[in-house]
Amino acid sequence: MDCLFCKVLNKEIPADIIYEDDRVIAFNDINPQAPTHALIIPRRHVATLNDIQPEDCDLVGHMVMVAGKIAEQQGFASDGYRTVFNCNSHGGQTVYHIHLHLLGGKPMGWPPYQDKL
Ligand code: 5GP
Ligand code: ZN
Repeated sequence: MDCLFCKVLNKEIPADIIYEDDRVIAFNDINPQAPTHALIIPRRHVATLNDIQPEDCDLVGHMVMVAGKIAEQQGFASDGYRTVFNCNSHGGQTVYHIHLHLLGGKPMGWPPYQDKL
């Protein structure tokens, strides 16, 4: 399987890893959109949020908890931060191994919805 994030997990591609445990790793995004922009990924390959199974609920909860832990470590948990899962093309997903974006260190805007009217 040709998956970029499995290659990061297997250390075939270098990454700036900031957290790891038996179920997930987290590393800095190569193209950061905030002072801190980390990606939390499961060690198990799951392509999209649509592929999450009931037995993955604990894993996904763990990913969210790790995001909070990193925010705490980086000192912006109380100011706040954003977590994002993108799913498939309309969601803007470009890497098909689920990942939770953690963005922090500045106030976040919300994308404009120009088609609204
Ligand atoms: P997506 O668009 O799928 O939600 O997010 C994929 C993220 O992976 C993007 O924010 C992109 O900048 C990041 N990314 C893509 N290739 C690499 C890479 O080789 N290394 C790292 N650290 N991040 C990457
Ligand atoms: Zn993968």
